Amino acid sequence: MSVAERGLFGAYGGRYVPETLVPALDELERGWAEIRADASFQDELAHLQETYVGRPTPLYRAERIGDGRRLYLKREDLCHTGAHKINNAVGQALVARRLGKRRIVAETGAGQHGVAAATVCARFGLECVVYMGSEDMARQRPNVERMGLLGAEVRPVEFGTRTLKEATSEAIRDWITNVETTHYLIGSCVGPHPYPEIVRELQAVIGRETRGQILDAEGRLPDAVVACVGGGSNAIGIFAGFLGDDGVRLVGVEAAGAASLGTGRPGVLHGARSSILADEDGQVADAHSISAGLDYPGVGPEHAHLRDTGRAEYVPATDEEALAALHLLAEREGIIAALEPAHALARALELDAELVVVCLSGRGDKDLAVVLSHGR
Ligand SMILES: *Cc1c(COP(=O)(O)O)cnc(C)c1O
Repeated sequence: MSVAERGLFGAYGGRYVPETLVPALDELERGWAEIRADASFQDELAHLQETYVGRPTPLYRAERIGDGRRLYLKREDLCHTGAHKINNAVGQALVARRLGKRRIVAETGAGQHGVAAATVCARFGLECVVYMGSEDMARQRPNVERMGLLGAEVRPVEFGTRTLKEATSEAIRDWITNVETTHYLIGSCVGPHPYPEIVRELQAVIGRETRGQILDAEGRLPDAVVACVGGGSNAIGIFAGFLGDDGVRLVGVEAAGAASLGTGRPGVLHGARSSILADEDGQVADAHSISAGLDYPGVGPEHAHLRDTGRAEYVPATDEEALAALHLLAEREGIIAALEPAHALARALELDAELVVVCLSGRGDKDLAVVLSHGR
């Protein structure tokens, strides 16, 4: 199979990278195939998920906001460091260690992936450099401070929109320069092959657990599974548990101002072909969202394929709708969600379905300043 054919999801995915990265991607692809087949890796990962990450996370029935639906929340907000990102970070840190890489570079938007990367680097004694747009650093101050405490170096990115898109470009640039010693710990199911597959597999634990938990609780599969989509990793993780169940609707919710699937077009961004926000000339357009974790003009290639095949549907939610859902969940259920999954909740509360699961991808501590500044 040629390189161009590997890692394709329909018309999307692949590798659009400079020559210098191809050996590293080949090494990662080969290494990952060996490592994931190794029982000692799976045992080590499972042990860390249980004792360090806090898995399995609960599946909680939100009785006070269902409005006639039986609404369940998959509580990824209860993971160590407060979001699903740690599932991927722990797995990739183990892979980096087995590949003999002592240095990690990562990009971050909301700061949740940066914190997850800094956390696993502390745990495994790896050097950690996190690229973050200066705009995001300003709106996600607590996470910048957490990364510092954890011993990571946060490098501000001062060009373009100063958000996740530029931070990702900088992380890739660093990786190209230091590829011998460095593993690029990408934070979502984006980037060149094999990253979308690796991240999906490491996040699929969400879907496996959810499937078992909903069968235990309800004796049947849900009518719909709903998740927010930034790069798409929490969504692909929970969807993975239900892809083969045709009766289960899979609903991805994008920020209305960053709807790479809803309003995007085919194009290449950060090493893969997917659906991206771009103008008629193919220039990547700026995304706009109240939530830093969804503020990205690209999306994982597998989601573009799931959209085209009709297996999953993708709908937008506005900043105001997300804020309203966040307040409702806080006041009726005593759970302060992150702004990202509040988008998913907003659409889930309107679905014409009896039994619905929402992936509550993270907790809201990081968003307090933004939420309070918008009043009630
Ligand atoms: C980063 C983040 C997201 C968006 O990333 P995906 O890869 O789309 O999951 C969603 N929710 C939270 C809490 C995040 O931190």
